[in-house]
Amino acid sequence: MTRRSLLARTAAHAGDYLEGLATEPVTPTAGLEELRQALGRSLPESGMAAEDVIDELVRDVDGGLLGSGGGRFFGWVIGGAVPAALAADWLTATWDQNAAMYACGPAAAVIEEITGVWLKELLGLPASASFAFTTGAQMAHVTALAAARHRLLADRGWDVERQGLFQAPPMRVLCGGEQHASIDRAVRMLGLGTDALIAVGTGPDSRIDLTRLELEADVPTVLCLQAGEINTGGFDAFAEACELAHRHGAWVHVDGAFGLWAAVSPRYAELVRGLELADSWTTDGHKWLNVPFDSGFAFVRDAAAHRAAMTMSASYLITGGTARDQLDWTPEWSRRARAIPVYAAIRELGRDGIRAMIERCCDHARDLVRGIGSLPGAEVLVEPVINQGLVRFLAADGDHDRRTDEVIARVQATGETWFGGTTWKGMRAMRISVVNWQTTSDDVARAIAACALSSDG
Ligand SMILES: *Cc1c(COP(=O)(O)O)cnc(C)c1O
Repeated sequence: MTRRSLLARTAAHAGDYLEGLATEPVTPTAGLEELRQALGRSLPESGMAAEDVIDELVRDVDGGLLGSGGGRFFGWVIGGAVPAALAADWLTATWDQNAAMYACGPAAAVIEEITGVWLKELLGLPASASFAFTTGAQMAHVTALAAARHRLLADRGWDVERQGLFQAPPMRVLCGGEQHASIDRAVRMLGLGTDALIAVGTGPDSRIDLTRLELEADVPTVLCLQAGEINTGGFDAFAEACELAHRHGAWVHVDGAFGLWAAVSPRYAELVRGLELADSWTTDGHKWLNVPFDSGFAFVRDAAAHRAAMTMSASYLITGGTARDQLDWTPEWSRRARAIPVYAAIRELGRDGIRAMIERCCDHARDLVRGIGSLPGAEVLVEPVINQGLVRFLAADGDHDRRTDEVIARVQATGETWFGGTTWKGMRAMRISVVNWQTTSDDVARAIAACALSSDG
């Protein structure tokens, strides 16, 4: 079979899968043992025809795929893929450019350069900020916080890239206490250790409590803020926090893995007020922008610090022209040209389309929370600020945690829709997250109906 025929055949498989998302169960129907049975075989000693590999792969994963790409999935914060982004992702694999530097993929480098500028414009970030395309917000945090570490220590006469951290002035990373665990891991990976992470606490509005911030100019300090808290979708008070932090020489980092996209909608202007005053920001492409995994972004106001933290050189590199070499900004060397699907998504949707998608998801989240929350025995814990909300289910015997987990399991078992559980303020809750471009009012109605059935009796 020619490669052209193989790819056409694969496209037909892909089309079948995508069409099935609307009707097939969202929840996987095959269990661990079944999947190990279907996929497990001894190491192939000899090869086989490519088309058979593909046909058998499609057959063997049957029942083992989570329908998170469709419109009825509301678990975690997992986006789908808009059509142009998916198609461009296929081309990215086909072209197979090593997007490490301009010389090994000129068009890929230029697309990344242009897409980075677009993203800053969309998100309302300073035009002069530097950027990096990473695997996700996790590595975007590492990148941005490495820039922070460089700057804060360089200002105190310490060259961390050369001297390391053993004798360095101790750094602190302040956060609200409900930060995403990827911040903790970034702090670990950067050698600061989680003892350096100090939970300041949050106020009654769930925002970081600025009255409890103890900032000292002689201690190198990063303040981590959130644009979109994982349970509530809440936002910190950026303008006030940045003003305070900067008065004391601290670096402000914003985790906006999904919430930063609220900046695209004028509806949420008040939530993101002062966001642009921070020093670094991270967000994802694979969540709310709906590009395929994996895709995250770091932005850094102090481009020199970012570059100093990440750049590398070797005798065989061809660098140094006016082109933007990606390896000066990223934690990776060889890498996928992951800006290409992002470029395609932004072109397909445009600023208007992205704004409409963000607002639509938020409307659906509100309708889901209110619809499920008004079922008998259900209770709304958090009305969405943007696209995330929490409900729980009450038990006659008072064991609401058990009841809530039970209803979540039943809902998942229907296959009609998928919600996950979380613990919020010591209570088990069902988390509702809407980030998929495909979700319709009909999907919302089906999901509420599935919850009604699952919480009945
Ligand atoms: C998902 C998420 C992250 C981690 O992002 P990845 O892209 O999975 O690395 C960090 N912070 C928040 C708020 C998130 O929702």
